[in-house]
Amino acid sequence: MEITNPTCTLTEEKMRRDVSYRCIICGKYEGQKTHVMAHVYKYHIPLDSVRFYCSLCDFRTEQKGKLSKHVKCYSRHEDIRNNMIKRGIEPKPDNAYLKKNKKFTLVLEGKHFEKIDKE
Ligand SMILES: [Zn+2]
Ligand SMILES: [Zn+2]
Repeated sequence: MEITNPTCTLTEEKMRRDVSYRCIICGKYEGQKTHVMAHVYKYHIPLDSVRFYCSLCDFRTEQKGKLSKHVKCYSRHEDIRNNMIKRGIEPKPDNAYLKKNKKFTLVLEGKHFEKIDKE
């Protein structure tokens, strides 16, 4: 039996993998909508224009709920924390790393990414 953590919904989009999207900015990256959006955030949006982000692991999102969940669901965040502890550095509480910008750029379909028509 598979045990799934009900608080971890970062992979909830797995159901809709038939529709593909492409990054307009570089024209190269293709994939599921959420992956393309994550790509745009990571490579094409400066950190001070991302709505919510984690200053520890560089996780970026426009949903506050995802930001607070990523500390438990994003292994990179845990890895960085654990490495700090190994090096003898006491990490701050997770909340201390969660940041938000007052001015931010939303990643939009048609502006940053587009649906790929597969015929
Ligand atoms: Zn791109
Ligand atoms: Zn993080």
